Amino acid sequence: MSQLTLSIIKPDAVQRGLIGDILKMISDAGLKIKAMKMIQLTKEQAEGFYAVHKERPFFNDLVAYMISGPVVVSVLEAEGAIEKYRKLMGATNPEQAEEGTIRKRFALNIEANSVHGSDAPETAAVETSYFFNQLEQVG
Ligand code: GDP
Repeated sequence: MSQLTLSIIKPDAVQRGLIGDILKMISDAGLKIKAMKMIQLTKEQAEGFYAVHKERPFFNDLVAYMISGPVVVSVLEAEGAIEKYRKLMGATNPEQAEEGTIRKRFALNIEANSVHGSDAPETAAVETSYFFNQLEQVG
C-alpha cells in the first residue's frame, strides 16, 4: 500500500551543498516527492518537532543543531515508504550505517547525521502535517 513519510535534509547537509546528492538518492530509491520546501526552523518549532526526545540528555544540543541553518523538508511517497527511507538513511550513528546509505556517505557524527525520516505510520502522520497542509501535497 502506498505510504507517506517525512524527510528532513538537516543543516549539516544543506550547509555542505548536499541537497542535490541526497534528493538524487531519494529519487533513485523509488521514493516520490509529494511536497518540498526549504525553511529555517525556530527554536520553538524544533522543540515541538523533537518533543518525544525532551527528556534525553542531548535534547538541547539537538535543538541548537537543528536551528543552526536551513533545512529541506519533504513528503515522500512509495510502497512501504517509511521502511524504505529508513533503510536508505542508515543507522542513526554513521559509524554503524551500512555502505550505500545516506548517513554512511554524508553524516558527520551521531547528531549531525544529515537526514531525518519518520519511524512509524503514527509519527509520519504527525510529522507530515507538522510541516505541510493537504493543499501543499501536490506531487
Ligand atoms: P533517528 O530516528 O535515526 O533520527 O534517531 P533518534 O530518533 O534516536 O534521534 C533523533 C536525532 O537526535 C538523531 O537523528 C540525531 O540527530 C540526534 N541524536 C540521537 N542520538 C544522539 C546522541 O546520542 N547524541 C546527540 N548529540 N544527538 C543524538
